[in-house]
Amino acid sequence: MRYAIIADIHANLAAFAAVLTDIKHRGGVEEVWCLGDVVGYGPDPHQCIELLCQCNHICIAGNHDWAAVGKVNLSEFNPDAAAACRWTAEQLRSEDRGYLKNLPLVIEKEDFTLVHGSPREPVWEYLLSVSTAKENFTYFRSSYCLVGHSHVPSIFKYTETGACSFSPFSASVGLALGKSRLIINPGAVGQPRDGDPRASYAIFDSETRMVRLYRVPYDINATQLKMVKHNLPVSLMSRLSHGV
Ligand code: ZN
Repeated sequence: MRYAIIADIHANLAAFAAVLTDIKHRGGVEEVWCLGDVVGYGPDPHQCIELLCQCNHICIAGNHDWAAVGKVNLSEFNPDAAAACRWTAEQLRSEDRGYLKNLPLVIEKEDFTLVHGSPREPVWEYLLSVSTAKENFTYFRSSYCLVGHSHVPSIFKYTETGACSFSPFSASVGLALGKSRLIINPGAVGQPRDGDPRASYAIFDSETRMVRLYRVPYDINATQLKMVKHNLPVSLMSRLSHGV
């Protein structure tokens, strides 16, 4: 079975559609695993939920998903994120709200635990350092954990000797799943932050036990023009050009 691992779509329909087309060109997948933040920041929240729901998929809740439906407090957001979130809430239809409200925090699937931020704090914690990642290995039982939230394609490895290491998840090298426990971040579809503006996602093949990362160019300008039209914060728009 093949599964697409996607995270942080952030209402960026052009990026999401490009990723789905790329998945199709690579032979398709049985199921899409979405690691949350379907909405927030970008100009197409309803359309992204609608498109995701057309896929055979599972999805967990991100902080922006729950903030858009009032399940987490906006005081935790920076002013631009909060402004985008208020705009997002106004765009959602009642079926969108129902979908976001009912997203679970954690899903266990195959040999993976799926969360948005971290297994310890599924909604809020960022896994950016080896020390934080190391602590989190005790908070899930499966061999591997999939996270989003930082928007940085990453691999944290916990070896049998108890050491933890970090490596960037690069599109040029496949990740072979072995004995070591891993926390894997496939990067962001709709707002990459690793200096590469292309959309990021991964495919897991359960037969070959490989996870591969892919980067997909998309029409960044189309998304930015919509953000201008809807008066969304300029910083959120310009960062898409640089992938930061
Ligand atoms: Zn996010």
